[in-house]
Amino acid sequence: MGNIYDLIIIGSGPAGLSAAIYAKRARLNVLVIEKTGMSGGQILNTYEVDNYPGLPGIGGFDLGQKIREHADRLDVTFVTDEVIGIDPAFSVKTVYGQDTEYKCRTMIIATGARHAKLQVPGEKEFSGMGVSYCATCDGAFFRNRVAAVVGGGDVAVEDAIFLARGCSKVYLIHRRNELRAAKSLQEALFQLPNVEILWNTVVEEIRGTDQVEGLAIQDVQTKSQSELPVDGVFIAVGILPNSNEYSGKISMNGQGYIIAGEDCASSVPGVFAAGDVREKSLRQIVTAVADGANAVTSVQRYLIDNN
Ligand SMILES: Cc1cc2nc3c(=O)[nH]c(=O)nc-3n(C[C@H](O)[C@H](O)[C@H](O)COP(=O)(O)OP(=O)(O)OC[C@H]3O[C@@H](n4cnc5c(N)ncnc54)[C@H](O)[C@@H]3O)c2cc1C
Repeated sequence: MGNIYDLIIIGSGPAGLSAAIYAKRARLNVLVIEKTGMSGGQILNTYEVDNYPGLPGIGGFDLGQKIREHADRLDVTFVTDEVIGIDPAFSVKTVYGQDTEYKCRTMIIATGARHAKLQVPGEKEFSGMGVSYCATCDGAFFRNRVAAVVGGGDVAVEDAIFLARGCSKVYLIHRRNELRAAKSLQEALFQLPNVEILWNTVVEEIRGTDQVEGLAIQDVQTKSQSELPVDGVFIAVGILPNSNEYSGKISMNGQGYIIAGEDCASSVPGVFAAGDVREKSLRQIVTAVADGANAVTSVQRYLIDNN
């Protein structure tokens, strides 16, 4: 048998990178597997992070790079591969990549989450042609143009605020009559003269020819339908865990989040879950990096107990 790692970390977002730093400092033989070849995870697409203690206003990309540089300083080994399954039942566990099989005594699943789809006609067809899931990535394309944001949580409101800086007009389309976003974000949003909120409204179709040209919308209370001309639509209707690859192998809740407590221990001994992929109430960078540290502490305990 080839190299058996003490620990394999799947994913190199904030949770995976934090775990890698703690693992290296604990002198574990650790490998990090990342499918994109680039560390940082979701924050790479975040224009500004203003709630990470000690680094106010840092760019998401810069923060991702900084945490990766910290891991590089400790000589963490990274490999680019997409994990497509695991066999976690035995004391020596297998992680299946697209290219290779990896062996380890413990693993931390830190594969994060992804954007939920709106699932309306036109969404797929116009993806990248006016349909976007990342305002900070694509907002610049809509400078002095009209954009809509769909959603009512923190990300939707942040996106609307961000877009309002460059767009001539921003519609925030929300199916309810109040927003879920943090009050401070709502206050900032309500002050913007070029943002209009369409309450109790859903998007039924995204329309256009080569590019997005408008949205078919419906008022859910009056049932009246209308056409809203826009150049782009940003969809921010929630996130889904990246956990399909582990389905049936470890316990998950109904939404597919891995069930694990603060010690990050999953239902299978030696398998841990850290960051956004874990069932928890707050999905943020601080909670992801905290999970990374806690997970490694649990890994160390497991390795001592199962030596
Ligand atoms: C637009 C936006 C703005 C945000 N703004 C903030 C903010 O201001 N402050 C804040 O605290 N939080 C913010 N967040 C939330 C924050 O980004 C997440 O909570 C955090 O990134 C979670 O870290 P993670 O490591 O758990 O997962 P992720 O960041 O999702 O990283 C997971 C990593 O795993 C990799 N991966 C996934 N599947 C596989 C696989 N099968 N094989 C190998 N690798 C895989 C992915 O490529 C990725 O690199 C924001 C999120 C978004 C989308």
